[in-house]
Amino acid sequence: MSNSIFSSRYPFKNPPLPYGYNSLEPFIDSKTMHLHHDKHLQTYIDNLNKTLAGHKELWGYSLQELIIHSDILPKDIKTPVLNNAGGVYNHAFYFQGMTDNKGEKPSELADFHISKTFGSYDGFKKAIKDAALGVFGSGYAWLVLEFESDRLAVMQTANQDTLLNMRGVIPLLNIDVWEHAYYLKNYNMRNEYIDNWFNVVNWQSVECRLWSVRRV
Ligand code: MN
Repeated sequence: MSNSIFSSRYPFKNPPLPYGYNSLEPFIDSKTMHLHHDKHLQTYIDNLNKTLAGHKELWGYSLQELIIHSDILPKDIKTPVLNNAGGVYNHAFYFQGMTDNKGEKPSELADFHISKTFGSYDGFKKAIKDAALGVFGSGYAWLVLEFESDRLAVMQTANQDTLLNMRGVIPLLNIDVWEHAYYLKNYNMRNEYIDNWFNVVNWQSVECRLWSVRRV
């Protein structure tokens, strides 16, 4: 799954996972991955396409542009476009943020920033775990780079809100804490799911995002 989903246009297509459905076992199970990618993400894509079908004037906008420039959206479809485009963006980000190369640890730039902001890798884990546990209902916890201070921070978003309209914040990593992300395997134990997720975090993608930040 490349970045292309973020810059792709109507009609949107569900990109395949960058790893096998069962490749994150035993930390995240194959059944959850099938359901999450093929049903939940697919539904956001289908609903986004359905909502945009009668609005040819919006077909030239990319997924990110639809969210960032939501002022251009007609009133009657603004909410469904934002909810569904957000659902596509957040899920694509989440799937990219995991890898079957289990047990990766932050390297180079990510490691430097983690030490600078959280003191240690364990400090980072505690910060994002607290944020993920603290999301009330459905949403996401994020690791971000704050552009001005050049420091990392953790944030929360509700439902399918994104961080795309938050100025000066560059999203690096997210964890989906909607119950469908863990209910089949961990039941109501969000705590257990988060602990498992640490084993499949794609630190290479975080590293790439950090290196791609242009400081002017
Ligand atoms: Mn989800």
